[in-house]
Formats: sequence, structure tokens, C-alpha cells
Amino acid sequence: MKQTPIDEIYHFQCTCCGDCCTGNMEININVYDLYKIARRLKLPSTGDLFKKKLVELQQVQNNCWTPQLVFKTSPFVFCPWLINDMGDDDVLRGFCSLHSHDKPLICKMAPAGRVVDFDNGRVSYMLTPPTENCPGMEIQNVNKLSDLKKVLHMELQFEYRFYGILEILEKKQISKELMLDEFYSFSTNRDFSEILAELEDKSKLIILRPDTVQD
Ligand code: SF4
Ligand code: SF4
Repeated sequence: MKQTPIDEIYHFQCTCCGDCCTGNMEININVYDLYKIARRLKLPSTGDLFKKKLVELQQVQNNCWTPQLVFKTSPFVFCPWLINDMGDDDVLRGFCSLHSHDKPLICKMAPAGRVVDFDNGRVSYMLTPPTENCPGMEIQNVNKLSDLKKVLHMELQFEYRFYGILEILEKKQISKELMLDEFYSFSTNRDFSEILAELEDKSKLIILRPDTVQD
């Protein structure tokens, strides 16, 4: 999908066609998304999302195991949080049942996306059509990147720190099982800032796998 840098203004308005919530989409989520969704379902631990097969780990970002929403596959492939309903104009629409607070950050931001390069400390924002034919990209509604960043400030900060954890863990080649137990299974009854700080400490302290240690 073609990406273009965003300076400040971009044009977009979601028509709720639901296309980007169906089919072969990969919705990668962060640790705060796990926390929000587990709390919404009143689950005591984020690990329960994996047990319920709502989320699974995939090796996509920085070669680290990261959480991804598991789509349902019958009667077609779709996100489990997608609901269909009639819009005000009596046209069938696809709505996100996690909207607005508990929606994954990647979905909240679309079609804007953030690229973080820890090697040179550069952060950039790119416009990526959610699907090839996303009708929202044709609507000349003005959006300001600064507004989006202001509204999502806290979640962007959490995600940046999550990326920082992955950056450290990438070099340590942590196994899928260890990632699940140590980094993606935590209590939902605690303040998330405390949890994130603990995960950061843990990422620095956790030892390299013996077979990755260089002579
Ligand atoms: S494909 Fe575009 S218009 Fe349709 S739901 Fe996704 S973002 Fe909205
Ligand atoms: S979480 Fe919501 S917005 Fe994201 S893919 Fe699922 S239904 Fe769509």
C-alpha cells in the first residue's frame, strides 16, 4: 500500500464501510491495547485474551513476538469486534464495537500511522490507505496531525515506550513462550503506568538466550 508522509493536514473521513475490518488484515496491537481490551471484558489478566484466542503472538515487529487480533474465519474472515448495523441513511455499515476508547491505537489512528526509528531517533507520520479502495480516502474532510497527536498523546507515549521494550528484546531473541508469560500477561487491576515501568525494567534485566551470546 502506498505511503505518503504527513506534515500536518490530510484528507480523510471514514464511511464505516467495514472493509478494513474484514479479510486478510493484520491488526498489530500494543501492551496498552491488551490492557484496555482485557479490562473491557472484565478479565483479570491480559493473558486471558490469549487463552480465549482473541489475540495471538506473531513475529512481525523487530523480529519480536507481538500481539495481533485473531480474526474470525466463518462465515467469512472478519475482526471479532466488527458489528454491522444500519447507518442514519439506512445503509448497512460496519462499526467497531471497541470504539472509541478501547479501540486499538493502530485503528484509532488510521489512515495515519507512526514510524519510529530508534537508530536515528526519528519519528515520522505516514498516510497509508487502510485498504486499496478505502472510500474514506476520497472524502475531502480536513484532518490535522497535531489534533490527532493531542487527542492520542497518552497512548502514543505508551506505544513509544512499548517499541522501546521491543527494541531491547529484539537483541535478546526472547522465545514466544517467555514473551507471553513475562511481557504480555499482566494484571488488569493495576495502574497501567506502573505495569509499563515494570516491563521496561524487566526488558533490561532479562538475560540473553545462551545460544545468542557471542564469544
Ligand atoms: S476501509 Fe476506509 S472507509 Fe471503510 S471502514 Fe476502513 S477506514 Fe473506514
Ligand atoms: S478493532 Fe475495530 S476498527 Fe480495528 S479492525 Fe477490529 S473492528 Fe475494525
